[in-house]
Amino acid sequence: MPEEPFLSPDKNRGLRAVRHFAVGELVFACPAYSYVLTVNERGAHCENCFTRREDLFKCGKCKQAYYCNVDCQRSDWPMHKLECVAMVAYGENWCPSETVRLVARLIMKQRVTTDRTPSERLLLLKEFESHLDKMDSEKDEMNQTDIAALHHFYSRHISDLPDDQALTELFAQVNCNGFTIEDEELSHLGSAVFPDVALMNHSCSPNVIVTYKGTVAEVRAVQEINPGDEIFNSYIDLLYPTEDRKERLLDSYFFTCQCTECTSKSKDKEKMEIRKLSSPPEPEEIRSMVLYAKNVIEEFRRANLLHPNILFIYELLEMCELSLEKMGAIFADTNVYMLHMMYQAMGVCLYMQDWDGAMSYGEKIVQPYSVHYPAYSLNVASMYLKLGRLYLGLEKKTHGIRALKKAVAIMEVAHGKDHHYVAEVKREIEEQK
Ligand SMILES: [Zn+2]
Ligand SMILES: [Zn+2]
Ligand SMILES: [Zn+2]
Repeated sequence: MPEEPFLSPDKNRGLRAVRHFAVGELVFACPAYSYVLTVNERGAHCENCFTRREDLFKCGKCKQAYYCNVDCQRSDWPMHKLECVAMVAYGENWCPSETVRLVARLIMKQRVTTDRTPSERLLLLKEFESHLDKMDSEKDEMNQTDIAALHHFYSRHISDLPDDQALTELFAQVNCNGFTIEDEELSHLGSAVFPDVALMNHSCSPNVIVTYKGTVAEVRAVQEINPGDEIFNSYIDLLYPTEDRKERLLDSYFFTCQCTECTSKSKDKEKMEIRKLSSPPEPEEIRSMVLYAKNVIEEFRRANLLHPNILFIYELLEMCELSLEKMGAIFADTNVYMLHMMYQAMGVCLYMQDWDGAMSYGEKIVQPYSVHYPAYSLNVASMYLKLGRLYLGLEKKTHGIRALKKAVAIMEVAHGKDHHYVAEVKREIEEQK
């Protein structure tokens, strides 16, 4: 095995390289211990292997799950059977959260496995930290809601659910150690548990990136790694300035980041760029604008949680434009809080099929993104990809090819040269010639 577990002094555990890894090299792969396809992607991806294709066929009973073929359907049945009959019985009232769906699968998987699985070569699921002692009342409440939903939707199909204390711990473990699987444009495909991947500690200047091939996580070096180096993954979106990142990490993962980037804060000034004005704003004005930005971001996050299908699409777009106008009085267009809102606005435009609108937001975002994010970043790659595909759709061939090539250059390192996403984008470029 190319890696080994080790104990580091102030964190409980981590992963250290025992040999050299070049940029772009696969460090290790980890099949999902448990996974679930998100409801919105049903019909577009196989429930079993997550393959994206148009000729999937649906489960004859529930008519909601889709598969490549009978083999995929058969292999998924031990998990799908937890939901198949229930979805028919509850109809539109069947609405467990994705975390609840994942935990139901985890419980079943734990019952049928006795040995260490190939996903747990280094870390057992049972060894996950839960940080139960650090849960605040909001998290505790969410946890209780999840437990109630698990009982409501799954107790008929899972006999003897674990007691509430065990479930509280399991949900907390999944919240701190779970992963979301995304496609090449960073669209959400599902949730999963990868114990060995969860072993890696966080850094805001990570030396690896995690991508997905179906339901397998692949960890690739994005910085040169030498024998003895600790391997760091990033748990969060790295767009934001140090103080903001530290807050997010403390809130979701319960630790204070002391990585090289959090110490040097080398990118904070550019990330917080202020508009060039004849009379520069007072520090107090800047502080209150940052507070405003954080509140809007939080409002958006909650709106998305409540209405994951973006029902209030026009309201969202209005919120974006309003906040951009307000923040734009002080913040430069390259300021990360401006970029955050532009990214949201671009998403709304894409949803509404306003391709020109999406393109003009994308054009404003992509350049500053490549300055703020690390050299190899999935956020930057996916932005070039979205923009390139928009250009091609709008018959802007030269611009399209240029953007797609930038995406490929990053993806060849992050996803690996032989990834089917890379092959697809190369094909799109070829077709233009
Ligand atoms: Zn399949
Ligand atoms: Zn079914
Ligand atoms: Zn950090």
